[in-house]
Amino acid sequence: MLRVRASMAMLAVWLMVCSSGVMLWLAHAGYASVAAMTWWALVATGGLVVMAALVRLDLTATWRDPALTFPQILWAVTSSAVAYVLIGEVKGVIHGLLALTLLFAALNLKAKQIVAVSLYALGTFALAVLFSIHLSHESAPEIAYAAVLLIMLLGCMLLSLQLYQLRVRLRRQRQELVLALAENRELASRDPLTGVLNRRHMLELMHLEQRRCLRGQRTMLLAQMDIDHFKLINDTHGHGVGDLALMTFTQVVRENIRSSDVLARWGGEEFVLLLSDTHLDGALLTLERVRAAVEAAEVEGGPPGLRMTVSMGLAEHQPGEAVELTLDRADKALYAAKHAGRNRVALGDGMRPPPATPAASGPDPTRVPAEVLEDM
Ligand code: GH3
Ligand code: MG
Ligand code: MG
Repeated sequence: MLRVRASMAMLAVWLMVCSSGVMLWLAHAGYASVAAMTWWALVATGGLVVMAALVRLDLTATWRDPALTFPQILWAVTSSAVAYVLIGEVKGVIHGLLALTLLFAALNLKAKQIVAVSLYALGTFALAVLFSIHLSHESAPEIAYAAVLLIMLLGCMLLSLQLYQLRVRLRRQRQELVLALAENRELASRDPLTGVLNRRHMLELMHLEQRRCLRGQRTMLLAQMDIDHFKLINDTHGHGVGDLALMTFTQVVRENIRSSDVLARWGGEEFVLLLSDTHLDGALLTLERVRAAVEAAEVEGGPPGLRMTVSMGLAEHQPGEAVELTLDRADKALYAAKHAGRNRVALGDGMRPPPATPAASGPDPTRVPAEVLEDM
């Protein structure tokens, strides 16, 4: 932003330097006093140089108009009005300079500032015209120049205001577009029924985590979850109640995991939970807590007393391996949990539950007989 502001201020300086060149050349050609025009060029350019320096050094960062566009434009209008008096017969060149200044105003100022600049230009140039008529021998060209100035100032003000409205509309449309895009992205990454992440987005996250694991920054555990006998809920109570059960399930899971753990709907009544930076014993505790909470929860909005259970398979991602491989191990563990009687957590191939401490209580987190694990 500072770079844009500074380059705009420098552009104004360069334009004034070029204009000063033209004015000095005209003075040397005999259309104005060389001394007066030299002073004019120094003061007009100097003012803009000072403002450009303030902007470039970022001293204006906290000001209301950090680019100093408004004072720069007022300065340029004043300088043009003074040049209008000094330049004598060839006043026509000033119209071009003023038009350029007003173009800056049209592209950068707010509606109120545009009106203020236009009124200020009308006032200063009215004075300049009166001075010029007073100094000149022929009043007809002076009046013609003044008339063209008036037409230009009024025309520029109206066009600038129209352009301002267009700028406001464009900015609003751009903001709306940014919001719509963010909303669309959010919708595209979530499951519409449960609001948890969808499979596509979860896979993206997993691949991101996989790269972090490869750099040794993280560990990743994946749990495949599948609601037990879900078809029975649908068949007995209808698809609507099945949907309520899915919503209750995700709500209960979310209430029992850390905010850094990510739940996604993998398809139907299957879900995947991503636990990053979690040790095996911590993950097992979490899954056991989730399992017990799901078992205890009643389906919200469903028939009284309707409950469900869930089976889970947990696998640990090995740095360097494909995410699909980890998922496959979690899936096999889930199958083992189903095979062992459902409503339990099973560990993937090669994983061993942490040794139980005497203080530990509650159910065996793996809940799968060793022989089932060996069979996998
Ligand atoms: P298991 O314990 O072996 O997992 O048995 P299950 O009945 O849960 O498994 P199965 O794969 O036989 O049935 C899954 C059912 O989930 C079948 C399908 O109609 C239902 N289902 C899938 N998606 C939705 C959904 O969005 N809403 C509802 N209500 N049901 C769904
Ligand atoms: Mg199921
Ligand atoms: Mg299933």
